[in-house]
Amino acid sequence: MPPTKEERREALKAVYHEAKGCTTCPQLAATRTTVVFGNGNADADLMFVGEAPGANEDRQGLPFVGQAGKLLDTLLGEIGLVRADVFVANVLKCRPPGNRDPHPAEIEACQEYLLRQVELIQPRVICTLGNFATKLLRGDPTGITRLHGRDEVRVIGARAVRLYPIFHPAAALYTPANVEVLRTDFARLPELLALDPPPQPERAEEPVVAAEEEEQPPVAEAPAPMAVPEPAAEAEPEGDDGDDESEERPGEREIEAAGVQLGLF
Ligand code: URA
Repeated sequence: MPPTKEERREALKAVYHEAKGCTTCPQLAATRTTVVFGNGNADADLMFVGEAPGANEDRQGLPFVGQAGKLLDTLLGEIGLVRADVFVANVLKCRPPGNRDPHPAEIEACQEYLLRQVELIQPRVICTLGNFATKLLRGDPTGITRLHGRDEVRVIGARAVRLYPIFHPAAALYTPANVEVLRTDFARLPELLALDPPPQPERAEEPVVAAEEEEQPPVAEAPAPMAVPEPAAEAEPEGDDGDDESEERPGEREIEAAGVQLGLF
C-alpha cells in the first residue's frame, strides 16, 4: 500500500527532526544558527530547490525570506500561487559561512535530505533555481544558461518528476534583464503543472514510510517511521511554547510542533 498523504507528512516532519540535529558537515554545523529544512505544502505539486540559506534564512530558519524570496513571491503571485501552495527547499540545509559556494562534499552529504523530501512530498514538477540545484538533480555539469526554461522528465531518487531549471532569483536581481527571462520561464509553470504526471518507475527498494507491522504497539508508543536522533540542543525557531524538552526524544506533541516550525501546510 502506498503511504497516505498524512503518513508522508508525518515522515517529512521526522526527516526535519533528523536534519535539525545534523552535524555531518563540521564547519556548517559550527557556524549555522538554524538548519533551514524548507517549508510549504507537504503535498505540493510544485517544489522549488534553491542553493543554500543566506543570512536571513539562517536567522529565521525558513528558506527564501530575503530579497530573492520577495522576488520568488512576486513571480508566484503572477501565476496565481502563494508559498503555501508550493514547497521550497535548498540543496544545502545550512548556511555556508560568508555565503560562500557549497562545497562538493557538503552537497553530497546533504543530498539525502533533499531526496527524502522529494520522495515524501511527491511533486509533479521540480523547479531548480540556478546552477547548484540544476547540476545536482540532473547529475550533469551543464549550466543554467543553456538549460533554463526547458522541462524534462527525470528520475530523482525513486521518483519521476518534470524537472524545470530556471535562473536563481538572486542571480536575476544582480542582472535586471534576467528578471524578465525568469518571469517568462515562470509563466510556463501552470502549463507544466497541468500536464499528466510522469509515469513512475517500478519500485524495488524499501518504501520511505515504514510498512505497517502485523502487530502494532499502541500508537503513543509506536516508533517513528524513520530513525530520529536526539534533537540538537539548539534554540527552537519561533513558535516554540517555551517547554524545555531538549532532553527527550521528540514525542507526538513535539512532532506536531515541528509542523508549525516548518511552516508545513
Ligand atoms: N538563496 C537560496 O538559494 N536559498 C535561500 O533559501 C535563500 C537564498
